[in-house]
Order: sequence, then C-alpha cells, then structure tokens
Amino acid sequence: MSIASTNTEKNSNSLALLACPTCHGPLQILSAPEQKIFCTSCSLTYPIIDGIPVLIRERATQSIR
Ligand SMILES: [Zn+2]
Repeated sequence: MSIASTNTEKNSNSLALLACPTCHGPLQILSAPEQKIFCTSCSLTYPIIDGIPVLIRERATQSIR
C-alpha cells in the first residue's frame, strides 16, 4: 500500500482506494486538528503516521460525537 498524494491533495476527502478494515465502509480524511482517517460507516478513526494511513483495527479509536 502506498499513498503518495497526501502532501499535495489536501482537498481530497474521498479515499476511493481504501476501505475500512473493520466494516469495509467508505473512509474520509480529517485534517484538523491532526490528520486522521474517519470511517463514515462505523465511526472508527484511524491514525495517519508520517503521511501513511494506519488502517489497523487495533490502532483505531472510536469517536463518539
Ligand atoms: Zn468502518
């Protein structure tokens, strides 16, 4: 898996190539206050470390709003 466009494509909200490893739902990039990936289906949030999305269920956090 390689994501090379995170530095230049800041306005891209859809990750067509990636799906949530938990539910295979669509993912969204959140850029504030820090870059994260949010699953719009199951509301898990995955970290982005050094520009690389860490789509590992054990690293995900549930965001309850
Ligand atoms: Zn999900």
